[in-house]
Parts: sequence; C-alpha cells; structure tokens
Amino acid sequence: MPRHLVLIGGGHAHMVTLAHLRNFTQKGHRVSVIGPSPYHYYSGMGPGMLGGTYTPEEIRFATRHVVEKDGGTFITDKVVRIDARQREIFLESGQRLSYDVLSCNAGSYVPQPRMTAASADIFGVKPIEKLIDARTRILEKAGRRHISVGIVGGGPSAVEIAGNVWQLAKRHAAHMPDIAIFAASRLMKTFPDSIRKMAVRSLTRRSIQILEHSRVNEITDGRIRLENGHEQACDLIFLALGVKPSQIFSRSGLPTGPDGGLRVNRYLQCVAYPEIFGGGDCIYFEDHPLDKVGVYAVRQNPVLYHNLMASLEDRPLEPFHHGGAYLLIFNLGGRRGILHKSGMTFGGWPAFIAKDYIDRRFMRRFQAIE
Ligand SMILES: Cc1cc2nc3c(=O)[nH]c(=O)nc-3n(C[C@H](O)[C@H](O)[C@H](O)COP(=O)(O)OP(=O)(O)OC[C@H]3O[C@@H](n4cnc5c(N)ncnc54)[C@H](O)[C@@H]3O)c2cc1C
Repeated sequence: MPRHLVLIGGGHAHMVTLAHLRNFTQKGHRVSVIGPSPYHYYSGMGPGMLGGTYTPEEIRFATRHVVEKDGGTFITDKVVRIDARQREIFLESGQRLSYDVLSCNAGSYVPQPRMTAASADIFGVKPIEKLIDARTRILEKAGRRHISVGIVGGGPSAVEIAGNVWQLAKRHAAHMPDIAIFAASRLMKTFPDSIRKMAVRSLTRRSIQILEHSRVNEITDGRIRLENGHEQACDLIFLALGVKPSQIFSRSGLPTGPDGGLRVNRYLQCVAYPEIFGGGDCIYFEDHPLDKVGVYAVRQNPVLYHNLMASLEDRPLEPFHHGGAYLLIFNLGGRRGILHKSGMTFGGWPAFIAKDYIDRRFMRRFQAIE
C-alpha cells in the first residue's frame, strides 16, 4: 500500500536516501522533504569557503531540485514540532503535515552566549550559509580599514575559522585584521597534545592571538566581555561554541538523550515510536553516544535508506554499526591542515591536500545526482 515518507532536513545523513528517492516514488510512495533552504551546504568545506578556497556553489547540494526531479515534494519551511501520537508535524509557516514514516536529519545549532545587543556582525558557524555573509562583511570592512575579528570558542571550528579568516584577508583584503580566539579553557582541549601543539604553532606563527582560559560572559555591540572583567572591542565576532542537537525533539516531548538529541536504538529508530527514524547530529544513539561529526552522519546513510524503505514495506530493519575510529582533518587556512587517525598525526600541506581531495570527491559524488 503506498504510504507517505517525510524527511526533516536534507542533511548529510539523508544523502543516500535523496540519491535513491526515485526508488520510493516508483513504488508509489509519496515523499516530502522539508528544509529551510533549497540548498544544503557541506559543513566540512565551510571554513574553506570562508577562506576563499571554495565558492559557495562548490560546497552545496541542490536539495530542492533533486527532490522534485525524482518525483518528491520539497517544502521550504522549518519543522517546529512533532506530534508523534497523531503522526503529524507542525511547520513554522503554520502548515501541518501527516506522515506514515518520518526521518529526522535536522542537524544541530550553535548555542549563544549572553548578548545584550543584537549586531549584524555576529556570525554563528552554523548554519554554514552564515559564513557566506561573514566573508562578504570581512572583505567590505577590511577593505576600508584595520579591523579586529574575535572568535568565541576553543574547539576545531574556532581553529578552522581563525585560520581561514587569516587566509581570506591575506589574499583579498587591503588591511590585515587582528584575529583573536577566546577559549574558555585550553585550545582543542579534548584532542591529543600533538594536535593541540600543531594547531597553536600554526596559528601563532601567523600572529593569530590565542587567549586561553578566557570565558566569554557577554557580547555587546562590538565588544566581548570576559568572565574576568576584561573587555575587547571586535568589529566582527564568530560564535564557535560547539553544537547542540536540534530542539525539535525536546520541544515535542519525544524521548531524548542527555544532550537533547532524539534517542534512537541500533536501527536509528526512535525508542518510543517505531515509525520515526533519525541520523546525524540531531540524534542520541543510545548504544554508543557519538561525536557530532559528519563522518557518522555519512556512515548512517545506507542504514537509514534501507530502514526507511523496509519500514514502508514492512520488511526487517538493519542495525547501524558506528564503525570505530574515524579520520579527522582540520583545515587551518593557508593550505595547511592537521590529519589524525588512531594515533597517527601529521600537519602542513599534505594534510590539507588530503582533506581537499576527500571533500571534493564527496561533493562530486553527491552533486552528480543533481
Ligand atoms: C565549521 C564546521 C566545520 C566542520 N567540519 C567537519 C569536518 O571537516 N568533518 C566532519 O566530519 N565534521 C565536521 N563538522 C561537523 C559536521 O558539520 C556535522 O557533524 C554534520 O554537519 C552533521 O550533519 P547533519 O546532516 O546531521 O546536520 P547538518 O549538516 O546541519 O544538516 C541539517 C539539515 O537540516 C536542516 N534543518 C535544520 N533545522 C531544520 C528544521 N527545523 N526543519 C527542517 N530542516 C531543518 C538544515 O537546513 C540542514 O540542511 C563541522 C562542523 C562545523 C560547524
């Protein structure tokens, strides 16, 4: 019997499902995809796009086009709530949509520190579209005068953003900005010391200031105020404070993990409602809590695709195996990188070349479905 499959978000975990959308529609199933933008941007290349290594067009998928070409419906909107008992979702526009099977790939968001004034020049590192606006603003401002850029956060995103702001300005701006990272504790504190030292060395060599143990208490217009009372003027501020799963699930009273992600079992299936599935940053995989990295979303793809089809057709589900250690490569700007996997670490241009090759190959594979 034909049924209705609804996908929330066209993110990394839905790529294979989107690539095989025609297999659903050819069997008579209805497929609706909801997303705030007709495009999905690949975050792994976001900092590189900020730095000018890639154009915005090179790092995005035309989600709407792919969905419509293969017989699905794309709705430009945001899901705000799920009524799992009634099998209904509520959109920001006020529209409602019912489903037989639902798959959630709504990603994560950057939590904000206390802000006492809204400024146009404060940019979260997510959604990636924000980095396009940031790039334009840096070039406008640093083209006219000397500016300062503050990056709030001390993890990989902060490091990648700082290095790529440097690259952007170095290549295209008339005035080199002062760039400072405000890290609440030590920079890259959750990573091995070898990685930490490489990152610190690479950034400080380029005069990027790293202020460790500098927890930001408040952001006002053009100023960062630290917990220790120190204040620093910044023309542009990036928020790279880590990410939290989409709030849709906690808002909907669905079972969540301690981080607020949709609690799913080994089949990537909501523990309370078997017709709801999920993948990527928005889930809490209860068997083995996962880092918020695109690698896991990518690994979940085939299982999610299989299980959505199986659920529509009452066939057995497949379990997800997280796959163990993963390759991490950071883009530090200036064609430098740091590569790390299972105790092996190296930096410099070979790491950047490896990341560039892997990321471009990933994009080619999925842009081909357009
Ligand atoms: C700057 C930066 C660099 C990174 N680099 C890497 C890297 O090199 N390698 C790596 O493995 N990981 C990297 N990560 C982590 C990686 O971005 C995430 O783990 C990955 O994006 C998760 O994929 P996702 O599909 O779950 O979420 P997303 O990529 O965020 O996709 C979610 C999708 O859902 C849509 N959406 C959101 N809310 C709603 C809603 N309410 N209704 C409908 N649709 C919605 C969004 O528009 C988006 O298209 C990086 C993260 C950042 C911030």
